[in-house]
Amino acid sequence: MPKALGFAAQAADKPLEYFEFERRDPTANDVEIEIAYCGVCHSDLHQARNEWGGTVFPCVPGHEIVGKVTRVGSKVTKYKVGDTVGVGCMVDSCRTCANCEEGYEQYCENGFVGTYNGEDKHSGGVTFGGYSNRITVDQDFVLKVSDKLDLAGVAPLLCAGITTYSPLRHWGVREGHKVGVVGLGGLGHMAVKLAKAMGAEVILFTTSPSKVDDAKRLGADHVVISKDDEQMKAWRNSLDFILNTVAAPHDLDAYLTLLRLNGTMTLVGVPAESHPSPAVYNLIAKRRSLAGSLIGGIAETQEMLDFCAEHGITSDIEMIAMDDINEAYERMLKSDVKYRFVIDMATLKQK
Ligand code: NAP
Ligand code: ZN
Ligand code: ZN
Repeated sequence: MPKALGFAAQAADKPLEYFEFERRDPTANDVEIEIAYCGVCHSDLHQARNEWGGTVFPCVPGHEIVGKVTRVGSKVTKYKVGDTVGVGCMVDSCRTCANCEEGYEQYCENGFVGTYNGEDKHSGGVTFGGYSNRITVDQDFVLKVSDKLDLAGVAPLLCAGITTYSPLRHWGVREGHKVGVVGLGGLGHMAVKLAKAMGAEVILFTTSPSKVDDAKRLGADHVVISKDDEQMKAWRNSLDFILNTVAAPHDLDAYLTLLRLNGTMTLVGVPAESHPSPAVYNLIAKRRSLAGSLIGGIAETQEMLDFCAEHGITSDIEMIAMDDINEAYERMLKSDVKYRFVIDMATLKQK
């Protein structure tokens, strides 16, 4: 079996460090990929530090993977050696439950197999993610990546892109809608770009006054400093939809009251501690909804990648070396990400 190099957390309170392990040789339906870039998602940090519970150590995070196909199994028809491909948050699912059959693998009744910290059907152990030089994945969970786009900027689309695209589509965001995006981090900056490309008027809510100019450059029509009550009040009862990407517990009422009649706020951030419960009155007063959304299905991920290729959308990235990952996590905790760290896998060397 091929040896893989990677970076792993050995325990919740330990920094990530160099780690060697084995990947499987491609089985009939597998695609082997040499990883060129891997994005750094806030979920990687949550899981490496066991903030959601259930992390199996050592943990090799990373689910925003792009690279080139190096080998394919005998039954692989979708990809050939040399193709540029991507892998997101899932590497398998049961494929037979009602949700899988409808293309909602992320909501698989039997639980999808996460790209890392998932139950590896092949080894019986745990899956290892994209902070690594190579990965072997079933062709049905591999995505086609357009050569038209900058490859490093495509990597974050595999999680941040689809996690924001899917709810924007599900709740029918389109021209004429006023759409709020809360938090300008990895997910938030993709939400701004995507909602804008779907024709919406975009209002970005940030805790960081230093991000105002960037938010406008990224496509926001209006930027609101969420700590400023007067600025918040100006948007009461006006928004059709809000996508909330914040990774920390906060007051949801501050945003629910900005929704107009029948408006929805969808949470995609998954803080380690729950948000304080919102006031019921704010929901019933305008028949507002509070919802959640998890990544997106495989077909929808391909649709999102194609949409991004068509509209020339990639992530704004800060490229880092593999050795810089722990510092990147600390900066992410300070909301100091412009707007996604991406690991250049060429910097991962055998030690
Ligand atoms: P990120 O890059 O760290 O961005 C989060 C942003 O939230 C920050 O940049 C900051 O933006 C804002 N923020 C942070 N702390 C805050 C606080 N205390 N109060 C208000 N705003 C705060 O993280 P990400 O990678 O985008 O991920 C965001 C969350 O989504 C994480 O919890 C992650 O696990 C989750 N996630 C969920 C899914 C899903 O399928 N549902 C998929 C991927 C990730 P400002 O500086 O603009 O305020
Ligand atoms: Zn993610
Ligand atoms: Zn299923």
